[in-house]
Amino acid sequence: MSRKIAILGATGSIGKSTLDLVECSPERFEVVALTAATNAEALADIARRTNAKLAVIADETRLSDLQELLVGSNCRAMAGEAALAEAAAGEAELVIAAIVGCAGLRPVMAAVEAGKTVALANKEALVTAGALMTDAATARGATLLPVDSEHNAIFQCLAGSRADDISKIILTASGGPFRTASAETLAAATPEQAVAHPNWSMGAKISVDSATLMNKGLELIEAHYLFGLPSARIDILIHPQSVIHSMVEFVDGSVLAQLGSPDMRIPIAYALAWPERMETPAQRLDLAAIARLDFEAPDMTRFPTLRLAREALEAGGAAPIVLNAANEVAVASFLAGAIRFTDIARAVEEALEDSRFAAPRSIAEVLDIDRATRQRVDSTMKANCH
Ligand code: NDP
Repeated sequence: MSRKIAILGATGSIGKSTLDLVECSPERFEVVALTAATNAEALADIARRTNAKLAVIADETRLSDLQELLVGSNCRAMAGEAALAEAAAGEAELVIAAIVGCAGLRPVMAAVEAGKTVALANKEALVTAGALMTDAATARGATLLPVDSEHNAIFQCLAGSRADDISKIILTASGGPFRTASAETLAAATPEQAVAHPNWSMGAKISVDSATLMNKGLELIEAHYLFGLPSARIDILIHPQSVIHSMVEFVDGSVLAQLGSPDMRIPIAYALAWPERMETPAQRLDLAAIARLDFEAPDMTRFPTLRLAREALEAGGAAPIVLNAANEVAVASFLAGAIRFTDIARAVEEALEDSRFAAPRSIAEVLDIDRATRQRVDSTMKANCH
């Protein structure tokens, strides 16, 4: 029996890795829906290759192009926010959530509300919605499967464990391209240098997040919501080789780790085939060739985003939404060449200091806080540039 899947963010890095796996095991999957933001050409190409039934483009101005590109296929073209939610909540049994940023929140919630199994790469959706998402998943019988390699590793290590037996989670981080860079080098870092990750090939936003270590901060918050542990029981450890993808320490002192090549197709495959496993074309680990695994404590001075994310998690309420929104705006400005690398953490810190929002009670309130924070950070940045 093949499984019906929808891929949200099909044209991105995670989307492409997912498609690679689907094309390696076509008997396992039936692609029913695909989405993208603006790239109608790539979306139509994937829709034809996979024989998808529905292709949704978020940018409504690109609908006529998408329709034209799909002429003669069996694929329906749609556009806009409601259509994204339809792709997520429609006939797919498994939804791969791979849109980048808080833009993915509504579609992910649509899948959760419809009781789907959601393979979650889009960490910003969980960071911003937090318990609103996990509570909805419990209420609607939806399953959240972590795709992020660290959370996927923890999920694998936890298999069958009782919550009382877990002592702590150890999230590993490569340290990114600037792990050993001086404060001066960080201040002068260019977008090209920031997106050149030493171990992983990823989209631009998460690559910059990996360089500031905000990615690890977002993952800390994500781990809290996925696994229900408080901040004090989630450690962050730098491991430059990215071979151990994370670890769990149990009350008896045992530590379980998941290892693998730094290839997102491995955690994606685990989520796609769960509770089974499937073959992947990923390179096998050659530990003799790797020879050594190194570890070090993170430097909280050069990488203040780690402290900010932990503070936001501990403050709760609107703080993780503000942290994420400010970071999204600042990263986009940095990629556009408008601010310096070190201004990203500064913008996030200022936004958190200025924030006076009450805790959101609904996804609509989450999105209001997200929007208001973006506007504020954007205007502060523009004012600072003049
Ligand atoms: P990419 O930038 O490569 O791809 C993003 C995808 O989302 C594209 O399909 C893009 O469409 C679509 N998209 C962007 N903005 C919008 C929007 N406003 N509305 C609807 N769709 C949108 O990102 P990645 O694949 O790198 O990352 C996706 C998510 O997975 C992120 O949350 C990231 O943190 C997470 N993740 C990624 C990893 C990786 O290895 N890449 C590892 C672990 C987690 P278009 O092509 O048209 O712009």
